[in-house]
Amino acid sequence: MTLVERIYDLDGGIAEVADASIYSPGTDVGRPLSLSCNAYLIRRAGQWIMWDTGIDDELANVPGGEIIAHGIRGVVKRTLISQLTEIGVDPGDVSVLILSHAHFDHVGNTRLFPRAKWIVQRKEYEAMFGPGFADHGYSPELYNSLRDNPTEIVEDDADVFGDGSIRLVSTPGHTPGHSSLLVRLPKSGTIILSGDVAHFERNFRHRRVPVFNFDADQTIASMDKIDAIIKAEGAQLWINHDTKQCATIPHAPQWIE
Ligand SMILES: [Zn+2]
Repeated sequence: MTLVERIYDLDGGIAEVADASIYSPGTDVGRPLSLSCNAYLIRRAGQWIMWDTGIDDELANVPGGEIIAHGIRGVVKRTLISQLTEIGVDPGDVSVLILSHAHFDHVGNTRLFPRAKWIVQRKEYEAMFGPGFADHGYSPELYNSLRDNPTEIVEDDADVFGDGSIRLVSTPGHTPGHSSLLVRLPKSGTIILSGDVAHFERNFRHRRVPVFNFDADQTIASMDKIDAIIKAEGAQLWINHDTKQCATIPHAPQWIE
């Protein structure tokens, strides 16, 4: 029985970098690049779940965007809230919030979901709220409101609802408690939402590790882990920042079953 009904791919803004080689040391040196950012709304057994929240909606009011961390500029053209409204979902109806990690392009709109249960890896929680947050490029003002969300702290992999429908897959390396999300859909089968386990398909294929990652060995082990799941389950990997792949995936208000 498949319990997940559908997934909506929401536009979470654009991340612009002056030098693409920060994601692939030695390759594409000095080449500017725009990265798609996505957030995902999942409907499961009549319940709404958010995976990542994109770049801060406030940046829609800042022409040309703003450099936030690691020299990366965030630009927002369509706000997350406007897309939820178009689908007909009130943010207050989202009951579960899960984040791949706490970089600005994933946690920009967490404050829209103050009542959702936040599920978080212990190591990511400690990185976000510990003294070393700046070392990870984190901006606590974007996610401080999460302190007041009902919170479930997990360690390693987690079967979110205990029925295999949605599984949090621990993929550390980009950040200490980074995760990916496995979702089983009725028609599309198993989809893995990458988080930033890799930023582009070719970086995944070549096991390239961005310069600012927390741990290179862990990053490669996490890519191997995702690759093994893809092969075992015939899963699709949706890579959040792969602009080329992103253009092939229907976006909200359309959905995927
Ligand atoms: Zn990212």
